[in-house]
Amino acid sequence: MRSSEAVELYFTRAADQLELAGHLRKLLLTPNREVQVQIPVKMDSGELACLIGYRVQHNRARGPMKGGLRYHQEVDLDEVRSLASLMTWKTAVVNIPYGGAKGGIAVDAGKLSEGELERITRRFIDAIHDMIGPDTDIPAPDMGTDHRVMAWIMSQYNKYHGFNPGVVTGKPVEYYGIPGREEATGRGVGLLTTKLLQRLRRKSEGATIAIQGFGNVGTHTAKFLHEAGCRIVAISDASGAYYNEEGIDVPGALRHVMSHEHSLRNYPAADTITNAALLELEVDVLIPAAIGGVITGENAPRIKAPIIVEAANGPTHPDADDLLAKRGVTILPDILANAGGVTVSYFEWAQNRQFYRWNLDRVRQELDKTMNMAFEEIWDLARERKVPLRTAAFMLGIARVSRAAELTGLA
Ligand code: NAD
Repeated sequence: MRSSEAVELYFTRAADQLELAGHLRKLLLTPNREVQVQIPVKMDSGELACLIGYRVQHNRARGPMKGGLRYHQEVDLDEVRSLASLMTWKTAVVNIPYGGAKGGIAVDAGKLSEGELERITRRFIDAIHDMIGPDTDIPAPDMGTDHRVMAWIMSQYNKYHGFNPGVVTGKPVEYYGIPGREEATGRGVGLLTTKLLQRLRRKSEGATIAIQGFGNVGTHTAKFLHEAGCRIVAISDASGAYYNEEGIDVPGALRHVMSHEHSLRNYPAADTITNAALLELEVDVLIPAAIGGVITGENAPRIKAPIIVEAANGPTHPDADDLLAKRGVTILPDILANAGGVTVSYFEWAQNRQFYRWNLDRVRQELDKTMNMAFEEIWDLARERKVPLRTAAFMLGIARVSRAAELTGLA
């Protein structure tokens, strides 16, 4: 099953619960615009590479479209399409005034020099600058991109359209960014993990956690949960997975990646296991925080964690979702769990437009409030309608987007 079909299936389950009319289903499933562009770029070797970039604008009923930019070798149009759709439901779930979009370039960001990364980014913006803008479509970081890439996007966009920091979020704090954006997704994941544990009458103190992916989201999730008293027993990245039954020394692991080109390779204070084995560990909470599609019908029967918190986008295939639900596993879905990033992106965008600065305390306070509110709404809806949290989250998102579409006269 392709990624976009998986999202469509989750959408349909929620739409059935809402008894959504056929014409609205069609409208909400069809992307507004999909663009594929050629990115010719001179590499350090002197060779001319021709990369492919995508931007999919899914829905704009609730506001300018918003979504990250992913640089990864497996990026293709179908994946970007599914991620753009998830952004539409996610922004609606946390009730921020945006629609959904996503972009990506099929390239292994880990193999690029800083100069190559910058040239690729600027050429990509040359190709799509007319599509994006603070009132139309606002990119942000995702896998393989970070605050440096966002700064280059702003600078390249400005060459065509004049100074406008609100065209992109996730920028460096010293360059029109907002304090707390970098940690926001991981903080939201951590916060809702402790909240969910509490709701399920389990203690955070000493709860065992396995986290797949130790990039932006994985590191900040680990830090938050470590500080909350959880025991992080396994972490991983593209180099492999690392297990320590006594608990990983999270500050030590963070120092290791900082001094080893953002990689856990050769991390000494743990046993080495595979990324596949990490998913099957006997832990209280499993947190996929890397790529999509890692929990499948094949490995789901071997997954032992009673709670899964989807920090990554689309980590669970629908057939695995069904198998796990039957076994009583609670899944906190991506469109709620990882919505902290887009929430603080919204604060950054609002700040940029007002030329007003928020401090870290205020950002954290507002983020926590937004995440808590969305969690409560979805928890209550799930209980009331006797549906899984994922279906409840899609129901809330779809209800808000379809109402906006009706109000604007689109439906
Ligand atoms: P990142 O590039 O900073 O980190 C990705 C991590 O995953 C790295 O540690 C990488 O080594 C690891 N990884 C890559 N392939 C892997 C594999 N096959 N097995 C195990 N680990 C692997 O990316 P990120 O921003 O942390 O994003 C991670 C996930 O979170 C993505 O699914 C992304 O869409 C989602 N997400 C990110 C944000 C954000 O604000 N950055 C917001 C919402 C959702």
